[in-house]
Amino acid sequence: MPSSKKPVLGLIVPCMNEAEVLPSSAQSLKSKLNSLAERGSIAATSKIYFVDDGSADETWAIISLLADSDDCFVGIKLTRNFGHQYAVYAGLMHAQGDALISIDADLQDDINAIDEMVDEYSQGNDIVYGVRVDRHSDRKFKRWTASLHYWISGLLGVRTIPNHADFRLLSRKAVSILSQYRETNLYLRGVVPLLGLQSSEVYYARSPRLGGESKYGLIDMLGLSAQGITSFSIMPLRVISIVGLVVFLISTGFGLWALYAAMAGLSTPIEGWAPTGIPIYLLGGLQILAIGVVGEYIGKTYMEVKSRPTYLIEKATVPTDSPKETY
Ligand code: UDP
Ligand code: MG
Repeated sequence: MPSSKKPVLGLIVPCMNEAEVLPSSAQSLKSKLNSLAERGSIAATSKIYFVDDGSADETWAIISLLADSDDCFVGIKLTRNFGHQYAVYAGLMHAQGDALISIDADLQDDINAIDEMVDEYSQGNDIVYGVRVDRHSDRKFKRWTASLHYWISGLLGVRTIPNHADFRLLSRKAVSILSQYRETNLYLRGVVPLLGLQSSEVYYARSPRLGGESKYGLIDMLGLSAQGITSFSIMPLRVISIVGLVVFLISTGFGLWALYAAMAGLSTPIEGWAPTGIPIYLLGGLQILAIGVVGEYIGKTYMEVKSRPTYLIEKATVPTDSPKETY
């Protein structure tokens, strides 16, 4: 249970080429921290951690200026682009505070939900999920692909919170348990529900980007979806076995029927290229698909076995407390 002392809050903001939105986002986040501190909900020493995920624009320069101008801003610069999930993870591993909230730099997630998250934390919740109830600001295609992803994930037994992305509060206890998951293929939306601590949800409407462009194209979304499914479910491998069994049984049935027809001297009514040609292509396609799925898991195992660091810190505006990952 959190103590009655005011909690120190840390906001984790992953940034990749966010120069356009960063100055205004930083001010909005700072005002949010100030208002929460004035309300007495959090300690005045709460901070905002910007994790620069290999930006090619002025993002780091802006972060450094912010950190110089105000103690409440901290910058952590990764050596290159590691991806959103790893940038959030790096922030979580290095930020200080009793509760940490991850939020995107474009502030598409409503910062006013932070108040409610902190209240939920004060009531003893170690994890508070931000859940989007209104996604009308997202393009139709994005909403459609997101629904498809949640549906397939659910079908394959991956436990995620629908319409929750990476806007969430984690208590210090949750973060320290999370740090025991040494996954190279990291999918926080899948890992966090596995922590199994007391959790709750807060609801908000998602707004359009303040500026700049989305860094998640179709390929990235497909990649994240495949990552989410294959990191948490071996169901696709089972489906392959089941498909193989069904095809085998059907073929055996056809084989027996053909044998009977030949022995009984029945004329076989099926003629032409279709009965031979179509199964060849169908099975060829299925086999390649199956090899691809198996390959996906082998690739994952390969990456996990190598267990390379999932992020590397080039520098930070304050000393980071885990020198082993700091170069
Ligand atoms: N981001 C990141 N590394 C990446 C891609 C994105 O740190 O490789 C950050 C980005 O700066 C933003 C957040 O992740 O703060 C979400 O990205 P974006 O807004 O582009 O995604 P969308 O909201 O369109 O899903
Ligand atoms: Mg966004």
